[in-house]
Amino acid sequence: MRTLDELTRPNILRLKPYSSARDEYKGKQASVFLDANENPYNHPYNRYPDPLQTELKARLAEVKGVSPECIFLGNGSDEAIDLVYRAFCEPRVDNVVAIEPTYGMYEVCADMNGVDYRKVRLDDAYDFRADDMLRAADGRTKAMFLCSPNNPTGNSLRREEIETLLCRFDGLVIVDEAYIDFSSRPSLLGELAAYPRLIVLQTFSKAWGCAGIRLGMAFAAPDIIRIFNKIKYPYNVNLLTQREALDMLRRSAADVEQWVSILLAERGRVMDAFRALPCCREVFPTDANFFLARMTDADGIYAALVSQGIIVRNRSHVALCDGCLRVTIGTPEENDALLDALRKMD
Ligand SMILES: *Cc1c(COP(=O)(O)O)cnc(C)c1O
Repeated sequence: MRTLDELTRPNILRLKPYSSARDEYKGKQASVFLDANENPYNHPYNRYPDPLQTELKARLAEVKGVSPECIFLGNGSDEAIDLVYRAFCEPRVDNVVAIEPTYGMYEVCADMNGVDYRKVRLDDAYDFRADDMLRAADGRTKAMFLCSPNNPTGNSLRREEIETLLCRFDGLVIVDEAYIDFSSRPSLLGELAAYPRLIVLQTFSKAWGCAGIRLGMAFAAPDIIRIFNKIKYPYNVNLLTQREALDMLRRSAADVEQWVSILLAERGRVMDAFRALPCCREVFPTDANFFLARMTDADGIYAALVSQGIIVRNRSHVALCDGCLRVTIGTPEENDALLDALRKMD
């Protein structure tokens, strides 16, 4: 078993992190702050935000049932994805293994960081086997990326296979749960203590309705979170985002549940309607707020919808998704607009 120090890039292990004014004086009782070259006017925007988002993490810890030291917050989940590479993957030396097809940012971040990205095709049911991932790995594989429910396929990956991988791979296993709030399956958050190399990603961008504030969460053992904190930009989550997220957590757990239940009901309705469309060949099972549908002429249908101001995602040129459109569930009115347009096409 490689230690976390052995998984970490040597320069990151040695790094002496930037120490901000807010790091060096953390107390709240002081009343005169002349340490950070801030402007004393224009409260509250004049002050730098809390670099470690203490209050927000404390609240999230309660909501998620994990300890605050197991939480990293970033400018979207995308920041945590990038930090995995920057912290653990030596450019042109190390590699990662990921399922395919999946969320595009894992590969983009690999490319930006000069890290070899190895793709393992999903099977006909869009599921994966731990064995296939392990076969693609070697001594320089630092991390494996899974996404469940997966984007763009929508399905959850088999839980036993995820846990097999967690048992047998001694690097990091990232499980992206951006869509977990729409799924009937439990999150892996409850298994954090059991798997010291597990990183679970979640986000405020989907079920929480906050894509605009850019707030992503990574949950992992405290030694992993400490490495992320060491290399992140000092003030990576701005004041407005921290406040809005706290407001959401205070008032909106009920809102989120209601949004999710409406969206799940609509998802069933829209998928049924798709199955009845002559231009639709196949609708794939989903655990997310979108579904994948194989169409008779995906490119043509996509263009015709665009000309009517209705935008879905054309995934027809993605591996294993030929002929497929990815449809996000909207409001009942938006979904009706899509269905009306498609019915008129046949
Ligand atoms: C939408 C999505 C995210 C969200 O990313 P943010 O940067 O948090 O907005 C993460 N992972 C997957 C698979 C997604 O589809």
